[in-house]
Amino acid sequence: GEIAESIDLLVIGGGPGGYTAALEAAALGRTVTLVDRDGPAGLGGVCLRVGCIPSKALIEVAELRSRYAALAVAGLRGVVEPFDMGAFQAWKDAIVARLTGGVAGLLKAAGVTILTGGFRFLGARRGVVDAGGTTPPQFLEFTDAVIATGSTPRALPRLVRDGVHILDSTDVLGLTALPSSVAVVGGGYIGVELGTALRKLGSAVTIVEAQESLLPGLPSEVVTPVRKRLSALGVDVRTGTSVAGVEQDELVLAGAGAGAVPAEVVVVAIGRRPNTDDLGLADAGIQVGADGLLAVGPDRIVVPHIAAIGDVTAGPALAHKATAEARVAVAALSGRRVAFEPATIPMVVYSDPEIAITGAMGIDQSRQASVRRPFAASGRALTTGDPTGFVRMAAMPDGGPVTGVHIVGPHASELISEAVLAIEMAASPEDVWSTIHPHPTLAEAIADVALDLRSS
Ligand code: FAD
Repeated sequence: GEIAESIDLLVIGGGPGGYTAALEAAALGRTVTLVDRDGPAGLGGVCLRVGCIPSKALIEVAELRSRYAALAVAGLRGVVEPFDMGAFQAWKDAIVARLTGGVAGLLKAAGVTILTGGFRFLGARRGVVDAGGTTPPQFLEFTDAVIATGSTPRALPRLVRDGVHILDSTDVLGLTALPSSVAVVGGGYIGVELGTALRKLGSAVTIVEAQESLLPGLPSEVVTPVRKRLSALGVDVRTGTSVAGVEQDELVLAGAGAGAVPAEVVVVAIGRRPNTDDLGLADAGIQVGADGLLAVGPDRIVVPHIAAIGDVTAGPALAHKATAEARVAVAALSGRRVAFEPATIPMVVYSDPEIAITGAMGIDQSRQASVRRPFAASGRALTTGDPTGFVRMAAMPDGGPVTGVHIVGPHASELISEAVLAIEMAASPEDVWSTIHPHPTLAEAIADVALDLRSS
């Protein structure tokens, strides 16, 4: 009955996956409409608005403050005034606005139409956009669609978010005053990143993790330097510990770290759930697993004319995975034979020290060699005042390719891309060490560890 607008390629969600898909589709000559719950303000999604970018802004400021204090020994003197969280928010919001505006400009230049409202499928090629309030629903028909609706913080039934006392990561990044004490529930990367930053800015911080190890899933060798630093910073880390209850200004814990810890605010960071529950997927003939993830083929196709990318698909929930999948999905929907087959997807934790991991150390333990080189042996690392951490590299024997690199230390996030390129190009350790690296740099450690592999 209702009149439906006819769309060539519909992108659902304006995060890193969605906006990249829209730009790529426009570049391939498609006519593109992008719908986001928050309209133009939603461009950039979680990553740009309440994830990658704001968290790194907070971490940068906290790190500078703590490094300044640590380098008093090198002659840096001066009073560091109390941290002004209000000024931080204004600075951070300006960065986010600039980036969101940039994305909006690119989409406009590419001729992408942007709709505001929550999208729901009504059929295999039909859907509705609901902006709420008195705005009438907008009915759509589309030829192809990309689902890029991302994810939302997972809730703990015992700790229901109220935005004041019990916060999620989005609330933390919007704080206008520094809490005196913070209990972070969840010792994954988001909990560790936010907890470390708040501690460096002056809050008393406890991190509570149910599993036996902090940063579950990461090798203990890379986690150990982070645990040591957290303890040096005075962060109370309690692993093997669960939440028994919450009181006014305390979190009550059970298990290995049982007791009560101060908590002016509680931050729940126990993972994220894909936004697939309210999408009307059954009406489009798409099934969703209990984990909320969509099953895709190597080309990211779900059903012949619909693809899915980013946090709604399996694999690491990271922005650079979403953008890489976007290019594949849109090419596939436009009739190209493509597959998402990266040799490796790097992962970074902006902990202190940073952790950056790419590839695999243990493809074949019996044949693979791996060596480790500490940054303490690097002249440049010593001049930064923080020569913590190491580079480990693994390669196949007899001059075979590099298979994995782990970097722990300052700027690991920036250093890892050389290793990613090496693995993607099937470079051998000799390719890496015979490449001339500028001196003195932290990156020399990558060449040096490759050279060490020669004699291992
Ligand atoms: P999202 O970014 O989640 O975007 C989805 C968009 O879809 C949203 O704008 C939403 O409004 C919209 N939407 C949802 N449902 C509907 C609907 N029904 N109709 C219309 N629109 C809808 N990743 C990194 O790679 N590096 C980092 O350093 C990093 N740090 C992070 C720090 C924090 C605190 C958090 C929370 C995440 C971080 N991430 C990081 C993860 C990263 O943010 C996500 O992997 C990334 O945003 C996923 O992109 P996406 O396109 O899949 O979805």
